This record gives sequence, C-alpha cells and structure tokens, in this order.
Amino acid sequence: MPLVSMRQLLDEAAKGGYGVGAFNVNNMEQIQAIMEAARETESPVIIQASRGARSYSQDRFLYHLMLAATELYPEIPTVLHLDHGNSPETCKSAIDLGFTSVMMDGSLEADGKTPSSYDYNVDVTRQVVAAAHAKGVTVEAEIGCLGGIEDGHGAGGSGMEHLTDPVQAEQFVNDTNADALAIAIGTSHGAYKFTRKPDGEVLKMDVLIEIHNRLPKTHLVMHGSSSVPKELQDVINQYGGSLKPTWGVPVEEIQIGIKNGVRKINVDTDNRLAMTGAIRKVLMETPEKFDPRDYMKPAREAMKKVVAQRMVQFGQAGNAKKIIPIPMAEMAEMYKNGN
Ligand SMILES: [Zn+2]
Repeated sequence: MPLVSMRQLLDEAAKGGYGVGAFNVNNMEQIQAIMEAARETESPVIIQASRGARSYSQDRFLYHLMLAATELYPEIPTVLHLDHGNSPETCKSAIDLGFTSVMMDGSLEADGKTPSSYDYNVDVTRQVVAAAHAKGVTVEAEIGCLGGIEDGHGAGGSGMEHLTDPVQAEQFVNDTNADALAIAIGTSHGAYKFTRKPDGEVLKMDVLIEIHNRLPKTHLVMHGSSSVPKELQDVINQYGGSLKPTWGVPVEEIQIGIKNGVRKINVDTDNRLAMTGAIRKVLMETPEKFDPRDYMKPAREAMKKVVAQRMVQFGQAGNAKKIIPIPMAEMAEMYKNGN
C-alpha cells in the first residue's frame, strides 16, 4: 500500500485506545529494522526523519528507501513524517517530496533554539496547516518547549523551563487546527533526560491529563520518550563505551499517557543505544572483522528487538490489518469539507 496519512493512523489509534511509536531513521538498516518489527508484530508504523536526517541522507535517498519499504511490506500502513520542521519552507519541501505528515515546531524560532512567541507559533503553524491539508498531509504542532538539544535542535535546559500551559494549548489548537499536538511535560531530547528515576516532580503527568481534559479530541504527542533502559547502556559501557548513568521515561508512564490521549510517542535514543551497543560488541569481541555487514546485521537486529518491544508496549501491535488506507486526495477532500 502507498504511504498513508498520519491523521488516519492516529484517528484509528484513538478509536482503539492505543499509542503509535514514531521512530527516527537516517539510513536503510534503521528503516529495515522498523519494518521487520512492524511485520512481526502486525503494527501500523510512523517513520520519521528530522532535518538532520534529511541532510545526512540527502532526503531523496531516504524517500526512495521508504517507497521500497511500502513495496516490500505492503500489509503495513506506513507514515513518513517530518520531525521538528523549523519553518514553513522546511515543511513545504517535505510535503513536495512526498512526506505524508509534517511537524511544524513553531515553539522555537527558525534557528531551532530560541523559544518563540505565541503569535509566531500560531502564524507559522497556520501557514503549514493550510499547505498540508490542501494535499491531505497531517500536521503536528508543538506548544511549550522540551529540554535538551538533539541534532542542533532544542531549547536546552532540563525540560522544566517551558512546560505546556493547558489553557494556552486549548487556545492554540482552536487557533491553528493542527491534527496533533506535542506537549512539554518535563521530558528532554537525547540520552540524558533525568539524573534519577523520574517521579511526579520531574514528569508532569498531571499537566498532560489536564490538557487531555481540555482537548479530548486532539491527538497528543510525547517527544523525548525513550526509556533509556539500563541494559542497553550496560552493553555500550561493557564494550568500551562511557555513558554516564541516566534515566529515560519509564514505559509505565507512557502507558498512563496513552490512557490520557497520547497517540504518538517519539523514540530515537533507545534505538541508537541498541545499534551502537551491538556494533561495539562485535568490534570488541572479534577485532579481526572488517566487513560492515558483520556489525550492521546485529545492529539492525538489536534495533528491531527494541522497536518490536515498544510496539507491543504501546498497543499498536496487531492493528495493521484493521486499517484500510484512505488516499491522500480523499484526506484533502475531507479537510476541505471540514471533517
Ligand atoms: Zn522531538
């Protein structure tokens, strides 16, 4: 089947009461790992590429790999989503290339670092919604800013500085008509999210619940939601790495989020850790090896394992065949008619 709209997947997820993992990719092996995990667990998937990934892969390579994925895994409804678009132009270039969903992150200015004004955010998000919906493409927006910096993008800090204000979130969705909303509840991008196991002090699930109560029909998105499991950190450190102790977002907290309107969960760090650990292991244990396949295969397998596990934990497993793809032109028609 062709690439599908993210809105359709998230609407289905809301109906079924589950969440959908959104996994970042930069290359062929990562796409293969996700598609294999999706096939094994019969899951619909969201594959996302950041601006950094688009420049690393000269995004046309990535796009054609995604087309190959849809040919080789015709039973899997697959979304190609732009992660953290920094300007309407970036989003429009992704739409032109064939992405079926884009994130306009207007919570930061176009430099991808400076927290922006509310009016700026509404203005750029509206522009992207108009361009995207005309083609049936989904729009994710963000209000409030996450902590940390990844791929040169982010507000920095611990994640507690710019939490989402639920009243403003409600206003923002009314002002922009975005399909999905990323919120800041204390999480950060990257591996170093928390210096201790997160509790109610650092992970504001109460804020999330209030936003969901005000916006029961809006699909909420949790960014920076890798769990950063100790086992994956240990493999890296056991084979010559040096990660400092760190904690991510526990899967149980994400599952509480899913019960409260979270439909898209962004996971990148866990996959990076899994791949790097697997590569380190091969290179340390068998230093005579030099064929990239000798370490890329185990790396791909390690990532597939993590992704499949998340697909089961988020509840998307088993839901692929319930989704009959709506053509993008039909999605555009539905937006035009206000459905
Ligand atoms: Zn993010």
